[in-house]
Amino acid sequence: MDPATRARVEAWLHYGEELGVAPYFRDRATTMPAQDEEAKPLSPVEMAGSKPKSAPARPAPPATPAAALPIVAIAPGPSLFDVVERVEGDSLPRIREDIGDCTRCRLHQGRTKIVYGVGNPKAELVFVGEGPGHDEDVQGEPFVGRAGKLLTQMIEAMSLRRGDVYICNVVKCRPPENRLPEKDEIATCSPFLLRQLAAIQPKVICCLGACAAQTMLGTNQGISRFRGEWFDFRGSKLIATYHPAYLLRNPNAKGEVWKDLQKVMGVLGLQPKKK
Ligand code: SF4
Repeated sequence: MDPATRARVEAWLHYGEELGVAPYFRDRATTMPAQDEEAKPLSPVEMAGSKPKSAPARPAPPATPAAALPIVAIAPGPSLFDVVERVEGDSLPRIREDIGDCTRCRLHQGRTKIVYGVGNPKAELVFVGEGPGHDEDVQGEPFVGRAGKLLTQMIEAMSLRRGDVYICNVVKCRPPENRLPEKDEIATCSPFLLRQLAAIQPKVICCLGACAAQTMLGTNQGISRFRGEWFDFRGSKLIATYHPAYLLRNPNAKGEVWKDLQKVMGVLGLQPKKK
């Protein structure tokens, strides 16, 4: 990283610290894989019809419109990605080549495989998660465990196939014990994510879970404060929803996620899959 970019990244990190944020540590419970619950099929009918039977473990989303919530002033300062320059003529293979056998952050120490990203290089829709888990680390592909199975169901409920979209994570190597990626790890690895997004230029970016959403939007607010809202992100529309792993633990939240996905479908002109 050149000195100017480093200085700007450091400024961004200081900015977060001045706010007293711990943006990457707050919502781990929302993304930790559940050990005790099986994913239920996520048919459109079931998702659309499912209503929360009890309050989710996370704070309930506000009942008032986002516009009425002054706290939903996302990214009042520079996003991490505002300080990363675009790379001329970039492409997904070139970015992967640049990552190489990466040892730029400590996460390389425990990884089995770098989990770069998978899917359509011209996808209109990109899902961004937090980081690889055990199954992903072993297979080198994002979202292949139980949460990945649920994500595939979500994608198919949208009348898409998994291969139609692109799926990647904020960090490319598995954090030990599935902990959240730390700030410096995110700062080191996420420029690759930005380059992936810039190379694909999707219409819609859907952040899965708090870590991805907070990283992309440069905020420390809990995801329930801005889940389902639209944001502009470098020419793409960005929306955040709950992580599939959260849904494994809180199946009652599937209805809320389905509403978010329906918004995405509206932008992409998709109709729900017929049974
Ligand atoms: Fe490199 Fe990213 Fe892996 Fe860290 S997480 S070692 S920056 S590829």
